[in-house]
Amino acid sequence: MSIAVNLKHVEEKIRSAAKRANRNPDSVRLVAVSKTQTVDAVRTALEAGQQIFGENYVQEFLEKLHQLPETLDWHFIGSLQSNKVKYLVGLTSLIHSVDRLTLAREIDRQWEKIGKPCDILLQVNISGEETKSGTTSEDLLQLAREVSLLPHVRIRGLMTMPPFFDESERARPYFRELKRLSQVLSTEKIPGITMEELSMGMSGDFEVAIEEGATLVRVGSAIFGERYYP
Ligand SMILES: *Cc1c(COP(=O)(O)O)cnc(C)c1O
Repeated sequence: MSIAVNLKHVEEKIRSAAKRANRNPDSVRLVAVSKTQTVDAVRTALEAGQQIFGENYVQEFLEKLHQLPETLDWHFIGSLQSNKVKYLVGLTSLIHSVDRLTLAREIDRQWEKIGKPCDILLQVNISGEETKSGTTSEDLLQLAREVSLLPHVRIRGLMTMPPFFDESERARPYFRELKRLSQVLSTEKIPGITMEELSMGMSGDFEVAIEEGATLVRVGSAIFGERYYP
């Protein structure tokens, strides 16, 4: 199947899931996850109307970036080492994967150099699986308070990756829990942070995530086909 056709299918499923949940379809944005995909594949999706792309690896992202139009909106969604943050400055509009204070501090330090705040999401490891990145639900509030004090970092919401299930329904409790955590943080009224974004849902479960309130879905293989790992 072609990327353009896949994109159209995903967009249709996003719209129907939003409608099922009585949500405005425009309240859900699609992040096309282009990790391990070629520049040509990204260009094809771009020409088919896709605007936001998500990358996981700094080096790969930088190589692609320079071969593509500047109008692309890049999100960084992968686990991020502090020493790589400097390469992203000013190039990404949202970092989904901030899960510790040291990383947030480095983002603050680097974005200060361009005199702009960096929009971020706090990644939460709801399942507590050791292989997954993310702060624990217990530490989330404390992390949010500390990060909120950094002048060049703006928390816009939360992100999670549930465990992998063959059956998308089984991811629902994790999405629901992320939504609940975002409501808890909202009621804390921490100055400078907003909880308008919920980044959750991938190829196998984005419809369920939308039913549970996702505003950003991160979809890779359903658009580009299976990934090729060199
Ligand atoms: C790879 C990846 C995705 C997309 O996964 P698919 O199953 O291909 O849609 C989404 N989020 C993150 C953080 C990823 O690493």
